[in-house]
Amino acid sequence: MGVSEASVIDGKAVAAGVRERVAGEVAELVAEHGVKPGLATVLVGDDPASAIYVRRKREACAEVGIESFHHEPSADVAEAELLALLTRLNADPAVHGILLQLPLPGHLDADTMTLAIDPDKDVDGLHPVNAGRLMQGREGLVPCTPAGVIELLDHSHTELSGAHAVVIGRSNLVGKPLVQLLLARNATVTTCHSRTRALAAVCREADVLVAAVGMPGLVGADMVKEGATVIDVGTNRTDSGLVGDVDFEAVRHRARALTPVPGGVGPMTIAMLLANTVRAARRQLEHK
Ligand code: NAP
Repeated sequence: MGVSEASVIDGKAVAAGVRERVAGEVAELVAEHGVKPGLATVLVGDDPASAIYVRRKREACAEVGIESFHHEPSADVAEAELLALLTRLNADPAVHGILLQLPLPGHLDADTMTLAIDPDKDVDGLHPVNAGRLMQGREGLVPCTPAGVIELLDHSHTELSGAHAVVIGRSNLVGKPLVQLLLARNATVTTCHSRTRALAAVCREADVLVAAVGMPGLVGADMVKEGATVIDVGTNRTDSGLVGDVDFEAVRHRARALTPVPGGVGPMTIAMLLANTVRAARRQLEHK
């Protein structure tokens, strides 16, 4: 017997709430310091999908009053030239956050470029210094998607303290930082990945289950404990459109709350980028 149908967590509405909060914080910063937070976006080359992502990020900045400074080096930009641009942005006091859109063309190493960004302007939270800060529970910039997952869990009134949270996926972008964030909220966290044995049995133990893999239909009803909160980070383009990692129709009869794809985690990512930019600006202004 399943529980009554899960409540569907509305990522668009939660993201709109975050954007509204950020707009208020921007106005406060302008009033207190006379400074508009600024985000530099760097798009290397002309990959159409990346161009759309960056355009959406810039539009979102404009909506909340964040200044954006766009740079579009050509696809064959030399490593030294891109490094020089990042160095200039690091030194520019009008730029509080730097977003280097990934992936980069093959001749450029994403790790090298990420390391060149000032950790205090690293609004994607990918610099090892920020990963270390997160691991040690220090103030820093957290990757946007996992930060958005925590917002969704809070919004759905999911108790994290003492709960068993299972995260499927261990990437530096999503899985690992999410594990740290859940741990910081006093969850008991299990990380699963491609070598995990008895994945279904482990997942069935979860009060909070997060799928961040990139495999349509990976999580079926047999992997979900009755009454669990299920967050689907997966984004998979299929012939039938955009789908997540969770079999939504099957799982909605077992979970207490569940995110849809699209309209769940996706909208949170840009909202958290805006939040990170304002956080970075505040810290830089306070530590000047
Ligand atoms: P990734 O770097 O490819 O990592 C995928 C993870 O899934 C790896 O840790 C991998 O394990 C694990 N995995 C692969 N097959 C598995 C299996 N059969 N069983 C259990 N675990 C398995 O991907 P990512 O960057 O973390 O992204 C994950 C998904 O989230 C993708 O669909 C991506 O598009 C989506 N995403 C969405 C957003 C958003 O805004 N909504 C943002 C970022 C990512 P190993 O480590 O052992 O290889």
